Amino acid sequence: MTHDPRSLVRRTPVPPSVSRPVVSPIFPSVVYRSADADELDAQYMGQLKGYTYAREGHPNATIIGQKIDWLEGVTPEMGQGVVTGSGMGAVSALFLGLCRAGDHIVAGDQLYGRSLRLLTQDLPRLGIEATLADPTDAAAIEAAIRPETRLILVEVVSNPTLRVADMEAIAEIARRRGVLLAVDNTFTTPRAYRPFAHGANVVIHSLTKLLAGHSDVTLGWIAADTPERSKAIYDAIVTWGLTPSPFDCWLAERGLTTFDLRYDRAEANAAALAGVLAGLDGVEAVLYPGRADHPDHNRAQAVLGGRGGNMLSFRLKGGRAQVNAFLRAAENIAFAPTLGDVGTTLSHPASSSHRGLTPEGRAALGITEGFIRVSVGVEDIGLLTREITEAVAAAARA
Ligand SMILES: *Cc1c(COP(=O)(O)O)cnc(C)c1O
Repeated sequence: MTHDPRSLVRRTPVPPSVSRPVVSPIFPSVVYRSADADELDAQYMGQLKGYTYAREGHPNATIIGQKIDWLEGVTPEMGQGVVTGSGMGAVSALFLGLCRAGDHIVAGDQLYGRSLRLLTQDLPRLGIEATLADPTDAAAIEAAIRPETRLILVEVVSNPTLRVADMEAIAEIARRRGVLLAVDNTFTTPRAYRPFAHGANVVIHSLTKLLAGHSDVTLGWIAADTPERSKAIYDAIVTWGLTPSPFDCWLAERGLTTFDLRYDRAEANAAALAGVLAGLDGVEAVLYPGRADHPDHNRAQAVLGGRGGNMLSFRLKGGRAQVNAFLRAAENIAFAPTLGDVGTTLSHPASSSHRGLTPEGRAALGITEGFIRVSVGVEDIGLLTREITEAVAAAARA
């Protein structure tokens, strides 16, 4: 039986139009067709540019990937950043692409919780060991290095204690000891810190947070400083299936259009809110890198170029009863374990991200029962300070 070209099963070519869409189209296609075997050959040999199979790349991933490359200063001589299906996909790609059994990793001791789990529980099964050390203490990082250490992984600002790593000293140690430096730049974003400009070999992002910024996509990104390392990471992503969905990339592209505006506004809000909180009776302490009373204030100024970011934490006076009263009174502010959304969100590390630690372990980090982390959003600062001030007062009455 011959096929009628009007068969409903056959895809229709995109209707011709001299005018072009303003917004990037979404390309959900899993496969791309070639005219003949020679053309496909030429594509595989890199003589012709073209997509073949979505796990290996698709236009929506390229579009968002190039934007992050530009933000982070990835040049063609380095290779290309790769978008992954989540921030943890990017963290996984670092190890899967650049490490082998027998390697050792030195990592910050206050990394994102899942990264810590990956390092301490999952990588050992693959024959990769990790030592955790305090990145505010460069000597502690250096002391953890062994002959078989392959890389150092740090975050610039720790979660939720907002301590600032000694980035300059750590980069110098990595260079001198011949160890790669990987930086998870999710918290700081390229608006406050650009790791490649300060000696990093690999940079990682969870785009889920500030970069996409609307709590409606889960995505990551990773890039390296040489074509060999970029290729190794890319191949790990394609082989282990860490690929992102076109629709998520498309949403992230839309979110990214306002990233600079959102970041600046959220940062100004955070600085103002930190000042208000510090003056409230029900508040024991405020942690914000932009404040002069922050334990790493001078380093924060140097590393973050005077920026303070959108994250702040504070210790409410009292215990669980006061925390519950605060969260219930702040009912218009989401109590939700994420960060970087357009709207302010609150988290309580003792019952969420740090619940696995003993009370003593939390106390050593300064995470008391009353410790609350605020991811400050872009809402009107008058509204935000009123809601938070009233909630702190409600806690004091509890
Ligand atoms: C959220 C986060 C991750 C993981 O990102 P997902 O997109 O949730 O997988 C990694 N590192 C940091 C610092 C994060 O905040």
